Amino acid sequence: PGSLGGAADPGRVRVSVRLRPRNAEELVADADFADCVELQPENNWDSDTYEFDEVLTEFASQKRVYEVVAKPVVESVLDGYNGTVMAYGQTGTGKTYTLGRLGDEDTSARGIMVRSMEDILANISPETDSISVSYLQLYMETIQDLLNPANDNISIVEDQKTGDVSLPGATVLEIRDQQSFVELLRLGKLIDRSSLVGNLRPPMLRKGKLIVVDLAGSERIHKSGSEGHTLEEAKSINLSLSALGKCINALAENSSHVPVRDSKLTRLLKDSFGGTSRTSLVVTIGPSPRHRAETASTILFGQRAM
Ligand code: ADP
Ligand code: MG
Repeated sequence: PGSLGGAADPGRVRVSVRLRPRNAEELVADADFADCVELQPENNWDSDTYEFDEVLTEFASQKRVYEVVAKPVVESVLDGYNGTVMAYGQTGTGKTYTLGRLGDEDTSARGIMVRSMEDILANISPETDSISVSYLQLYMETIQDLLNPANDNISIVEDQKTGDVSLPGATVLEIRDQQSFVELLRLGKLIDRSSLVGNLRPPMLRKGKLIVVDLAGSERIHKSGSEGHTLEEAKSINLSLSALGKCINALAENSSHVPVRDSKLTRLLKDSFGGTSRTSLVVTIGPSPRHRAETASTILFGQRAM
């Protein structure tokens, strides 16, 4: 898994793959079967081999995952650019583990959101800089404020002149220390399909925005009406994820037209990916031979983003 290109080039999506270790059930039930994927240090150009910016094995620590997936984006946000970190993958493969773990008992378990804030706090001065954070859930094309759940109809506004995206009405909290951020995350709960928007605003000097997105389970693109999900829900998840896929593909192909208008998710991300922004996508996969098809489709999604 050699590194292709710079740390996180603007306008290009950095794509990493993270394999979750087998869980207790898979260790027992699938003991006689090989994993559905094999990670190799180098591309041997077999027909079913794909190459990524970074391949994170089941032994990769949360620290390593942060350094590979998010740190380059956080650094550019500190330099005044916008950036996005997203996790895409089947339910149960580790999206929330990767992004959202608080690591209360065990600091080595902390995920990308907590580590990003720690890095940001370490690099700003509280006298002159300010960090503001919102925590949102986008579900069925509706944006809900996780810091004020009664507010479930937040609109996306784009500044006609600057192109900046803002969410009037969303709770914005000023963060001064790590504890208050962790409290905020706990308050907003770690719900699937959530996005976190952090705004870094050193007055008049530089201003950067980091969006961390815990996407809906990728299998829900295909499933409808199953597992208690309504057809409407499946359609709207499909809309978001395929609109996102189209935008990411357009960036990968250096296309001048990135179709951001097709969904709320992509409208929300508009000023935070492509252009001068840095985007990092981690696709999470599980080893279970039972999920071969879904794993293959996740890997293809990641591959098309490159
Ligand atoms: P998702 O958000 O993609 O649905 P989760 O993050 O909830 O998946 O992970 C599903 C389960 O697998 C959780 O119990 C989580 O603790 C565990 N898990 C995920 N990734 C890892 C990992 N890299 N190492 C150990 N356990 C993991
Ligand atoms: Mg999750």
